[in-house]
Amino acid sequence: MKTTWSCSNCGYVLEADTPPEKCPSCGQQCAFTDVTCYTPECGGPESGNIDPKLINTPEQGIKQ
Ligand SMILES: [Zn+2]
Repeated sequence: MKTTWSCSNCGYVLEADTPPEKCPSCGQQCAFTDVTCYTPECGGPESGNIDPKLINTPEQGIKQ
């Protein structure tokens, strides 16, 4: 299973083994956050394997 990454700048989400150097959406060298769903609570495959708790709008940052 690939890791799901979210761009910290624009929120773009992609699946890859490693995050790209440049975000394909905003073209910036963003920090990518691992937002992969690792628990059943986040819905599993139907939610795209993304943990909604890990995704926030860029302005809010990532809350833990
Ligand atoms: Zn981006």
